[in-house]
Amino acid sequence: MGRPHMKSAPHILYIEDNEFNQRLIRKILEPAGFKLSSAFDGIQGIKQAIDLKPDLILMDLELPQIDGLGAATKIKSLPGLAKVPIVALTSKTSKRDRDQALVAGCDGYIEKPINARTFADQVRRYLKGEHERIEPANKTRILRDFNVTLVNKLQAKIEELEKTNQELRQSKEELLHAYEQSQNWNLELQRLTRLKENIVGITSHELRTPLSIATGYIDLLLEGMLGELNDDTHRVLQISQTSLAKMSDLITKITDLTRLALKKFPMNLEVVDINEIFKNVREGMSFFMKIRNLDFHMERSDEPIWVQADPNLIEQVLSNLLKNAICFTPDHGKIEVKTWIQDNKGWFEIADTGIGIKEEDLEKIFDEFYQVTDVNYHKTGQFEYMTRGIGVGLALCKGILSELGGKIGASSSGLNQGSSFTFYLPMVTQE
Ligand code: ADP
Repeated sequence: MGRPHMKSAPHILYIEDNEFNQRLIRKILEPAGFKLSSAFDGIQGIKQAIDLKPDLILMDLELPQIDGLGAATKIKSLPGLAKVPIVALTSKTSKRDRDQALVAGCDGYIEKPINARTFADQVRRYLKGEHERIEPANKTRILRDFNVTLVNKLQAKIEELEKTNQELRQSKEELLHAYEQSQNWNLELQRLTRLKENIVGITSHELRTPLSIATGYIDLLLEGMLGELNDDTHRVLQISQTSLAKMSDLITKITDLTRLALKKFPMNLEVVDINEIFKNVREGMSFFMKIRNLDFHMERSDEPIWVQADPNLIEQVLSNLLKNAICFTPDHGKIEVKTWIQDNKGWFEIADTGIGIKEEDLEKIFDEFYQVTDVNYHKTGQFEYMTRGIGVGLALCKGILSELGGKIGASSSGLNQGSSFTFYLPMVTQE
């Protein structure tokens, strides 16, 4: 005896955008032995019908995108699907609605709200081939109306598309206009950049010339080559000499900063040892540390720290960091420098016991022209406590180091808790 033939569960596709209705029908049909698939709009419904080839389709008539009537017409026109019964499931209850559904291709019609007790049997009957009929006289009229409705819908869609098309054309024109405008801004930006370059070039040159003449004469006067000087005149000239040196330093810094920003910074790259360069810097400033009674301590790396860099620029970075440590540390304070090699990088750290930096200023001090304290508290000396420039030194350090592939950062435990500045540069790899 052969095995009894197990007929598989009838497969129903339910096209309905309302999730609650979907759940309700599933609750009724699944326990009654049906397999249920869902689609949530007309287009998805048509696709699912093609892919799943269900035994019957339950179709809500009010669907987004293509409505139920359109979807039914389309499904019935597809090869292989023409015979799949479609049952309209809708709250539209007039006879006209019913006839329209039949004309569109539906085979049956169940009104909402459905009767939960009889629903599964209704579906079974449609599965067995039952289908509603429409009187032939009505059919022609409804068919004509249906065609008119379709044409109206089509017309509305075409009008909508035309409107979208027009809006798209307008957006395209606006975009083109914005693009042209951005091109103009670009040109203007290039013009301003050139102007900035020229101004920096001219200013630094024009300022430097009278500055060097004044410095030259002051040097001559101080050396007594233009006659004997009394003590007061000598002192005044020395102060002027210091001020002019500061001014010259400032011009160099501002010019360098601008060049760095414009990516036009001339670099004479060599392989140099950071420890050696710092030795020179320290020697140049040791006199000032001595008169300020600052205790200096250094822990050098065992090996030289070979980096590829412009020695003058590295000197500038190291000078700036040491000068800041001297200026922002009160007399009798301590400055500690440490250098080491780690992960193919050369590291440099300078820590002081000075005025410290507030947490919120730790990043900002590297911005151009940023200074923490009120300018009224500035001192205009060279290495006296609280002497400062115009807030470009650290910006320059950051720019130079980043141009050379390095990075700098600051840390401090807060005001009067001292500060520490650390940077690294990639080391030259040894062959
Ligand atoms: P400036 O030329 O004014 O010193 P910098 O760019 O070198 O400018 O420094 C910016 C600011 O960062 C300084 O004005 C100071 O407020 C703060 N600063 C720099 N170094 C230190 C330090 N070692 N200790 C405390 N504050 C510092």
